Amino acid sequence: MSGAPEGVETRVPAGAVELTTPLARVEGVASVLAADLRALGLTNVGRLIAHLPMRHEREEAEAPIAELAAGAVVSTRGEITATRVAGYGRKRRFEAVLHDGVERLELIWFNAPYMQDKLRPGDRVWVQGKARALRGGLQLANPKWELLDDEKPEPGARESRLRPVYPASERVNSRQIEALIQRVLPRALELIEDHLDGEYRRARELPELRAAYRMLHAPEDESEVEEARRRLIYDELLLLQLGVAMKRAQLRQTLRAPALRADAEVDARIRARFPFTLTPGQEKVVGEIAKDLSSDTPTNRLIQGDVGSGKTLVALYAMLMAVASGKQAALMAPTEILAEQHAESIRELLRGSEVRVAMLTGALPERDRASIHERLASGEIDILVGTHALLTERVRFNDLAVAIIDEQHRFGVHQRASLRAKATVGEAGEAVTPHVLVMTATPIPRTLAITEFGDLDVSTIPDLPPGRSPIETRVVTGEDRAKVYEYVRTRLERGEQAYVVAPAIDAGETVGGVVRDVRALTKELEEGPLQGLRVAALHGRLKRETRERIMGRFREGLIDALVATTVIEVGVDVANASVMVVEHAERFGLAQLHQLRGRVGRGKTASLCVLIGETTTPEAQRRLEVMAHTSSGFELAERDLEIRGPGEMFGARQSGVAPFKIADPRRDRELLEQARRDARAWIEASPGLEREGEALIRRRLLHSHGEALGLGDVG
Ligand code: ADP
Ligand code: MG
Repeated sequence: MSGAPEGVETRVPAGAVELTTPLARVEGVASVLAADLRALGLTNVGRLIAHLPMRHEREEAEAPIAELAAGAVVSTRGEITATRVAGYGRKRRFEAVLHDGVERLELIWFNAPYMQDKLRPGDRVWVQGKARALRGGLQLANPKWELLDDEKPEPGARESRLRPVYPASERVNSRQIEALIQRVLPRALELIEDHLDGEYRRARELPELRAAYRMLHAPEDESEVEEARRRLIYDELLLLQLGVAMKRAQLRQTLRAPALRADAEVDARIRARFPFTLTPGQEKVVGEIAKDLSSDTPTNRLIQGDVGSGKTLVALYAMLMAVASGKQAALMAPTEILAEQHAESIRELLRGSEVRVAMLTGALPERDRASIHERLASGEIDILVGTHALLTERVRFNDLAVAIIDEQHRFGVHQRASLRAKATVGEAGEAVTPHVLVMTATPIPRTLAITEFGDLDVSTIPDLPPGRSPIETRVVTGEDRAKVYEYVRTRLERGEQAYVVAPAIDAGETVGGVVRDVRALTKELEEGPLQGLRVAALHGRLKRETRERIMGRFREGLIDALVATTVIEVGVDVANASVMVVEHAERFGLAQLHQLRGRVGRGKTASLCVLIGETTTPEAQRRLEVMAHTSSGFELAERDLEIRGPGEMFGARQSGVAPFKIADPRRDRELLEQARRDARAWIEASPGLEREGEALIRRRLLHSHGEALGLGDVG
């Protein structure tokens, strides 16, 4: 630009910025400040405006010193009557006394000796800061201040107002951010385009986008903050829901899965393998699955059924549908023990048939693994059972038609995507993707179901197979341990079997005293209360063969009490085990305890689950008590979600739970439902968001979720 000295970047006046203008180029922004802002991710004007206040603080109206209250953000004015610099080195501080003719107020600036050149006795100033009580008077530390010029008429007393408080850093504070935002805001607001049109907004009583930003950065009152937040929360939820719906539409449109045979003959052949009649719930879900799998639209279905509801049988039905059509199926379990158990029970059910079942886990010796890879690729294996080892690149199927993920809560969206990527090449050279079913006994709370798992259809098995006896749950404290094991002993002597669960703990770690790890606990029980009974330890560090052998012996009734870590958490199925003791129950989530508890109550004997809580607070103990009177996994999952948050529950990184900036799916449930309805309807009408007027929302959607949801190819 003409006039600008060579090598010096031109500065843009705050009133003429673009949203893309780097903050470093905005007039009046020192390069140090720009660098500090950049460290907060605030690189340009657009980012700055999108930096939302985390809350708002009411600033009291200006008042005489005598009326100021400690604890509030106050402002007042008066004359400086005395100043001094006190302290040494880094503790140097500037102190001043402000007097308004009636009362005095102490002002203090830490580490700011330079203030003595700025404020002198006799100056009239306006100050503002948080007041704290001090020696019978009040003090403001590091107050904001302004000299009141003798020449000019004094400005009127300031009104009470709401001031935004921004996420800040050690190097740049909220006030500095606020000051900069206020400077560029009027211009930035002019530039903000709305991706929702007026009619759409009015129907939902949402303010315009630029109004929302104005109301958050410079609210007139609390109701404006609310209104603005509602709009931005809705937007955030809507974008994710649109992304999820778009992904779903895309999968359904572009990907093809094998349409499997689903006729009476196939159905009869599969059922002939089953040792029992299906429960009504299983019937319903099997019907839904058969319908799904017979279509060439890829299935993406979540099957939720409480612990023990018989999901394995439903999974087997789906896998046998693949086999009946001459194709392959895979079942993926979260732990080796569970994979082993699945493989074993499937082999058992298919004994005498020609179905070829193989198992693949990470623990398999390389030679065996290579052989399985080979046979998979050539189609010599019909059903593959395994752990996540199934997902590695090297595993190639000949024609995988059905992929099942058991216990979804251990697997995230990414794993689901990589299973789907096990596509094979169809006859016409097209990619054929498998039908995907995911099973979970930790019912996904509705709030999560429609965010994280919004791309799935959901089937529920609402009932349990007949003949189950309810499980009695007792919550006790460590003081009752001896009595508990005394009682357990009487049950074991009657021929029942027990699980004793301890949290997996590294040697040496203790919580409020002794923590018993599996090995120590096994020894203690063997030598103490369960002396003479057959006690064995089972944990993840044992070799696979050892674990298999121990599980086998327990199943055959050759072990009375199995002391285990949560390796038995999911799926383990031994009908004669009717007693469970959980040590340090406070260390487990409710949903997890429910999973554990589900290992008993599988036979005819009335089952008992004792939770020993070494809790330190009444609340922690009460949390456990919930287990005693709630037998619904669904309710417990909701409770867990309330207590621990979705990240804890599903493993945030693993499940990719979308981190929201302003929305909270649990708190904003209504908006979430609304956004979901809106998104579904929208994508149905316009699957690629390519109609007129949709370019902006499409761009914003791809920008926020395109990569995570794999929507890139439409961008
Ligand atoms: P989960 O849903 O927890 O995976 P499982 O599939 O392990 O449950 O089944 C729990 C137990 O119920 C197993 O012992 C299984 O053999 C049995 N079972 C499953 N379906 C039925 C049925 N329709 N009738 C009777 N028992 C069944
Ligand atoms: Mg199961």
